[in-house]
Parts: sequence; structure tokens; C-alpha cells
Amino acid sequence: MIDSNKEVVSIDLNVKLLTPAWTGDANEKCKRIHETGIIGSLRWWFEVVARGLGGSACSLDNHECSFDEQKYRSIMKNSLDKMRALSKAGLCPASQVFGATGWKKRFQLDADSNELKEIMEESRFLPSTRPHNGNPGGWYILPGMISVRDKRKDKHGTSKLSIRWSDKDELNKNLLLAVFRLMENWTGVGAKTTNGYGVFKVENEPQVNLPGWNPFLDSQNTIENKNGILPELKDFFFSVIRFKPYDNWWKNFKEIQACLSKTVNIEGATINISRRNPLTSDDAHKWLEHQCFPSSYIIRNWLRYSWSHHLGQGTESFIFGTAANDVCPQCYERLFSKKSHCGVILTKEKILSKVRSKIGLSHAYQQSGNANDIWEFRLWGYLPGQGKLEHLKLKLKKNAGTGKGEDFQREEFLENLQEAVLENGALWSSADGFKAVGRCQGVVWREFNSSRDTVGLSSDPWEFFKSLVKGEGLCC
Ligand SMILES: [Zn+2]
Ligand SMILES: [Zn+2]
Repeated sequence: MIDSNKEVVSIDLNVKLLTPAWTGDANEKCKRIHETGIIGSLRWWFEVVARGLGGSACSLDNHECSFDEQKYRSIMKNSLDKMRALSKAGLCPASQVFGATGWKKRFQLDADSNELKEIMEESRFLPSTRPHNGNPGGWYILPGMISVRDKRKDKHGTSKLSIRWSDKDELNKNLLLAVFRLMENWTGVGAKTTNGYGVFKVENEPQVNLPGWNPFLDSQNTIENKNGILPELKDFFFSVIRFKPYDNWWKNFKEIQACLSKTVNIEGATINISRRNPLTSDDAHKWLEHQCFPSSYIIRNWLRYSWSHHLGQGTESFIFGTAANDVCPQCYERLFSKKSHCGVILTKEKILSKVRSKIGLSHAYQQSGNANDIWEFRLWGYLPGQGKLEHLKLKLKKNAGTGKGEDFQREEFLENLQEAVLENGALWSSADGFKAVGRCQGVVWREFNSSRDTVGLSSDPWEFFKSLVKGEGLCC
């Protein structure tokens, strides 16, 4: 195995968690930060970036790269372009950094959990206030680790994340840091980020030097985007939504009211939910003390079941995900036999089991840079471009009702989504949304090659990536 470059550079990042991070182990416990959880999320985003910028990348679920050392040595005899040589020797950009068969990961990562604590002792039930198989539906809010807060000094602790980079390759080191900054600005780190966890801020901002040209264009296209819907940066949107909360705002969510009264009204009946261990006022105050609140599930509840309730069932599963294990890969409707509604005859291997949500929503939090009483949350996601949806022959329907309705339109959906969260949009006037919670204080929206982008239309993927890394648009 090649390990010729012994140089080790250590990069220390002081990380403050703005919402709890989840890097749980196999028993679903998260008493400390598990490095594997951080690396997993870094790789996922690195792949998204590489794919979106013209490179190819194998996926976390399906590593296909394998390193041909002999080929690499012979190419390197005549060239000094290491990234291109590694590509030709079988490694996609993500595998070059995170490792593959025959090739070691280029860095070590250590996380200290000293200034972290669990935000609650155990999971708490949050009712959706809708029935689920005859019972009150809902989710369990996980505890997660949060930076300790010193109230007297009005200051959060920070945890050190050390990256020990053991290669002379400056380009890949900078790409790794750049991806980390993208996550810092727009999404989160660790597992369950789409459910609100892992929003963070690096207090000692590392220097990131990216070249003027797009290095991913050089990586050879060996891996076909097999199912065609692997996420890539160009298909994403990222937004930060700010609001000024009213007094006792958090008590005005109907889901929280159900927790506090320990009852849910379903079809005229009042059902006691005490034994489900609902979130208490004490728990809520623990979140508020840490300047965050578990609102991700609540906003998703509004988005999925109020705002977009008219979507076809398959389209809803495609966008928001489903745990059902019998989903058609063309129309995304649940199957009741081997023949789908849409007419596709399916073999067992083609049936999807579990569809991941394409929409992420962070919990609400306060940034120390913002005025004291301004809160924010993040909303991001990806939808394959219309051309790709058609190429894949997906049969997603715009409206509920079987079979023949109009096709789902990506542009129209995103247009409506942005409109819903902008000032005066449905989110702020809906009783199930934020009507009694707070007033909109501005929305930042980033999207490749789109007039919806609040910074400006950017049609160069590499420039768009660099702008996300810099966090353009975020500052007031
Ligand atoms: Zn790979
Ligand atoms: Zn189907």
C-alpha cells in the first residue's frame, strides 16, 4: 500500500453545537461524540459535492472503487497531477479522501466530548396530533449532545475536533475543509441532521484555499449514477429562515400543547398519552436554556401534512421519505402486489424498502451573531432536475388520486415551497404553522442556476460551491 507522504498536518477546530448532535452507537445511545458518525456525514456531503461538480462518486451504501497501485505508479512516472492519477487508477474523489479497497483514508479525526452534555436524559414523545393506525401518531425526540452553556458568562463551551491530515495533497485537504464549512453554513454534522440534529459553528474559522478552476472535472467518470437519483449539489436548495418569536412562543405549537396537557384529541375522543412519556415543560426549558428547540418534527408535520397534503401519495413518499418496505421505484406508491399501479411489473430486487427524506429541517436555534431575540432554522433538500425525472421515467403525480393526474413539476414545487416560507407566506399565517409562534425576519435561499437564489443567479457549479462555502448571503 502506498504511504509515501509521511507529513502530518494537524487542524484543530473549535466546534460549538447549536442544536444537539446525534452520532449514536448501535444501541441508539449517544453519550459522547462518535467519530464514525462525523466521518459518515462528511463523506456523504463530499460525495454530493463531487457528483454535483462533474466528478463521479460512489455512494456510502455502495462503495465500488478499488485502487490499482501498479497503474497509479506508472501514471505518476510521467505526471505530477496526483488527483488525476488516482482517478485513473480507480478512485473517485470521495474514495481518494475517505479510502477504498487498497487505499487508506487520508486523515484521522478525533473529537473530544468534554464540553458536551446530553440535552435530556432520555427520548421524549412528541405527538403529531394525527392518528396512526388508530393510535396517536408522533415521534420520539432524541436527547443528543449539546455544548455546555455557562449562563453567568453567557457563553457556550466548544469541543475540539482534530483532523490529522497525513498527505502532502493540499487540494484534497482543502476540499475536505470546504465541505465541512458547507455543512456548518447550511446543514449539520453527524446522523439525523434531516431531523434537526447537528447544527454547529466553528469558532476558529480555518483557512480554506480553493483553486480558481473546478478540480472535479478532471476525475474520470467510471461510476455511473446507477439509480440516477443519488444526490448531487446542483439539485439542492439551502435556506435559513429567521423569525422573531412571540412571548412563550414554543407553547403555541399544537404538538407542544398536546405534550403539556398529556392528551391528544383524535376523531372526537380525548386520548391520554402519559404512558408514552411526552415532552415536559422541564424538558422544553432544558432546550431553551441551550438556545435551541426541537421544532424540526413540528415544521415537517406542517410542511408534509398541511402545506403539501394535496400531493400524490407516491410523490409525498418520494419527497419526504417513508419507512414502508414495499414501494414502487417508478411511482413511489406502496405496492399491494407485484404489479404496480403505474403498470410496471416488478422483480423483488427492484422494490424499494425505505425511501430517505429528500428534505432536511433543522431544529430552531439562536446564533450568537444575531440580535438576541432572533431565532432561525434551516430547510434544505434536493430534487432531481426535471430532465432527470423524465429520463428515469419516474411517474410522480402532482395531486392525490390514482393514476392519471398531472405529472409532478419540480420547478413549480420549489417555487411554491419558497413562497410558503417567505414573509407573508403560508407558514406565517397558518394556525398549524407559525401564526402564533413568531414573525418572519427574512429568508436566505441558495439554489444553483435559479432565480430563487437570494444572492444571485449562479450558473457555474464551482463558483456556486465556493459561495456556499463562504456562506454568502448569511450575514445581515
Ligand atoms: Zn469511490
Ligand atoms: Zn408504480
